[in-house]
Amino acid sequence: MESENKTRIQDDLYEYVNGEWLSKAVIPDDKPSVGGFADLDTGVEKILMGDFKAMKDGTLEIPNKYLEDAIKLYSKGLDVKRRNKEGFLPLKKSLKKIASIKTMRRFNSSLLELVLADYPLPVKVGVQPDMKNTLVNSFIFTGPDTILPDTTYYAEGNKTGEALLGIWKTMAAKLLAFSPLSEEEQKQYLEDTMAFDKLIAPIVKSQEEWADYVKCYNPMPLDVVAKKLKGFDIKGLLASLYGDKIPTTIIAYDPKFTKNFKKMFNRATYPLYQHWAYTKFIVSSSSLLSEEIRTIGGTYRRALSGIAVDASIEKQAYRAASNVYSEPLGIYYGKKYFGEEAKKDVVEMVKEIIATYKKRMSENSFLEEKTKEKAILKLDKIVIKMGYPEVPSKKYEALSINDKDSFYEAMSLIDVERNEYDLKTLNEPVVREDWVMPGHMVNACYNPYSNDITFPAAILQAPFYSLKQSRSENLGGIGTVIGHEISHAFDNNGAQCDENGNLANWWSKEDFKAFKKATKKMIKEFDGIPFHGGKVNGAFVVSENIADNGGMAVTLDIMSKMADPDYEAYFINFAKLWCMKAREQYMQLLLSVDVHSPAELRANMQPRNFDEWYKTFKVKKTDKMYLVPSKRVHIW
Ligand SMILES: [Zn+2]
Repeated sequence: MESENKTRIQDDLYEYVNGEWLSKAVIPDDKPSVGGFADLDTGVEKILMGDFKAMKDGTLEIPNKYLEDAIKLYSKGLDVKRRNKEGFLPLKKSLKKIASIKTMRRFNSSLLELVLADYPLPVKVGVQPDMKNTLVNSFIFTGPDTILPDTTYYAEGNKTGEALLGIWKTMAAKLLAFSPLSEEEQKQYLEDTMAFDKLIAPIVKSQEEWADYVKCYNPMPLDVVAKKLKGFDIKGLLASLYGDKIPTTIIAYDPKFTKNFKKMFNRATYPLYQHWAYTKFIVSSSSLLSEEIRTIGGTYRRALSGIAVDASIEKQAYRAASNVYSEPLGIYYGKKYFGEEAKKDVVEMVKEIIATYKKRMSENSFLEEKTKEKAILKLDKIVIKMGYPEVPSKKYEALSINDKDSFYEAMSLIDVERNEYDLKTLNEPVVREDWVMPGHMVNACYNPYSNDITFPAAILQAPFYSLKQSRSENLGGIGTVIGHEISHAFDNNGAQCDENGNLANWWSKEDFKAFKKATKKMIKEFDGIPFHGGKVNGAFVVSENIADNGGMAVTLDIMSKMADPDYEAYFINFAKLWCMKAREQYMQLLLSVDVHSPAELRANMQPRNFDEWYKTFKVKKTDKMYLVPSKRVHIW
């Protein structure tokens, strides 16, 4: 590294590695951040947008039916002339229907239609693998979303929350002005919307509570749920969906909401709900309409992350199409831009990391023999999904595009078809072959319910991975990410699922206690760290920190067995992964809604838990990245 940089690596690894870049990087007007993941993402988007344009223009062959439909949808999004000419019109038909639902009775008899249309409802429903038997599906329900991104924003005296609600309200007022409502009605609708949102906030989970996902599993007899959700005809909805195959038990993902539902939704609050739903529906649909309406409808989102302008219409059209047809597009991307050699190499790396993890489990000092055996079995059963799937999921067969439809109508039809498909899977086995991330996504994940890890092709690029990088660099890059994903099998949530992804306790009382203790130490290590005007919530980000810690431990273990490990290159490339420059508002938003620690802390906190960090850079007590040995956290 050049010595122009005044920061010492021992004081601030992140700044030492990324400082020069950070001082020069400019965040694009339409983006909340730049660097690391975001840059790779932009690169992939640029390539695929180029391909989309060429496919639309006929200079590049469209490889299959799904991408043909994707290009159709993309073209509709791009048709600014039609979008501007039609303005609010495409929404009017939906709104007319909604406005005719005046009574609770009428509301309940229209439930199925409203659910399929993604209409804002007092209860959100869905189908998910049953956490105790993940080979079968279960019917789940939870509360509606608040306007603000987390319930904590509603706390008395939260200035950011107040300001954001004000921005949302002004935006919604401007959008309501396009509706057929009279001025007086518009005012009433808006006041009622804000009032109903206030009823939701105290009875739904905070982001921190959602992060403990094992607590989502609360099976309840349907008869009990029906009583608790009085006024919302859950039984009628299920009957219209499943006929005589109606489930007798369904899962309450948010028990606090279930308990307090009646306070929010009843005869007295029904008019508030109706106006809230009407307004929210307009807000959520606005981005699909004319340029003018889309720009107004983006006000709140822009304020939330501090961005100046919306993404261009071209980007929006691409993103909408690539989002709907994500897996077919991911397969196209993977096949065209991702080498088989890299795939083979990374699969080998994953296998080596799993093998090393197994060795570490067998040498573990706080697990009892029986628990070790179970942990090793879980590692043995991890399914690796690398690059992209061979064939797209069957769910794409359910989608269709009508040539005549406007962009809004096409997207609405897709919503209905997708929802119908998803809900109909209730009485069918879970399809484990489906991927949760498409090949062109710069990310990776572990799925606790199927015990599998997914590494889309797009993340297998430098600085994460390159055949041109040294092995030490790749271990500090993709190696720590692989180790991170595997560690999710043993984080505070994953530890409660077995080798098949089912909720089950495979621990002894004693070793689970020891694990909990180590978890608490990790919470403490991060809790309260000041960051861009806020503070890190240690409990909220603990699962990701356990994963980061495990990812570093297992890759350093592999390094120690190498003939010529280059620890300097390892740590420096690791810090490169987390390079990110973001707008102030976006940093604050992430602190409240992202289960990961801020990128800078991900680079700077974990190394100080490991001896190799101290040895490699001769880190001393007087250095800022020194941590007394008793406070260093090692979990896996
Ligand atoms: Zn993670």
